[in-house]
Amino acid sequence: MVIFKYAVELNKYISARRANGAQIGFVPTMGALHEGHISLIGKAKADNTLVICSIFVNPTQFDDKSDFEKYPVTTEDDIEQLIDAGCDVLFIPSVDEMYPGGVSSVRGYDFGYLEQLLEGLQRPGHFHGVGQIVGRLLEIVEPQFLYLGQKDYQQCMVITKLVAMMGLYELKVVICPTVREPDGLAMSSRNRRLTETQRARAGVIYQCLVSIESKRDTSDFSVVQKECMELLVAKGFVVDYVALAHARTLQPAGNYLKGEPMVALIAARIGEIRLIDNMVF
Ligand code: AMP
Repeated sequence: MVIFKYAVELNKYISARRANGAQIGFVPTMGALHEGHISLIGKAKADNTLVICSIFVNPTQFDDKSDFEKYPVTTEDDIEQLIDAGCDVLFIPSVDEMYPGGVSSVRGYDFGYLEQLLEGLQRPGHFHGVGQIVGRLLEIVEPQFLYLGQKDYQQCMVITKLVAMMGLYELKVVICPTVREPDGLAMSSRNRRLTETQRARAGVIYQCLVSIESKRDTSDFSVVQKECMELLVAKGFVVDYVALAHARTLQPAGNYLKGEPMVALIAARIGEIRLIDNMVF
């Protein structure tokens, strides 16, 4: 695996490989890699001849300074995992490299209503930061395929919109299934900050999602939502939302919609750790 710290060198390398016919698949990450990330690398590897992964903990997408400061950094272990997964290139830039003229110098995008609900509401400025960094990375890497995890459902929608807004009509966004722990907890870099007790309780988020799906034809969502909130609180969570939305638009739905694709989304905090997850049905 070749490792680059500087955008100009990475871009030069990629241009040469592209000129030789390489098809480029790109997996942007913030590091502290786990099997969820590696599944994206695996899919990129199956589809492309050159797989590029980036590791960059992007300061502009953190609305909470302490969450940014405590974000796990496990670079050596990440590199080993990427080599084992057959990743070809790792881009691991500094903040100065990504924001050479300061954080406000990089273009932001307006994602409209997508920024005004769920994660957008809970984390002001978060998707602005995501748009800035992914936009910049796409300009540098110019991939043909971009791999994202369904785990971050709203982010997938925001980035799909970003790709359209940037006019990248040749770029295909591939959304990969959420990889889970045996108890259903979605793998996340933040999981490693959970205490043993918190970790033992965290599977309840997945149980709630399963329950929301399974009661689609038999219950009102408001009833299931209340049950889920109570269960989460009983396990020590502070609930940001237990929500139901149309799966294609993310428009909030007060109740199950017959015959329509739906997504249930949960965000909840236990101690200092905020976890999100979703299920499409
Ligand atoms: P992150 O490092 O958290 O920014 O995530 C980088 C990419 O990996 C994003 O596209 C995430 O949605 C994806 N990802 C994170 N966790 C998982 C998971 N458990 N399963 C599948 N993809 C994931």
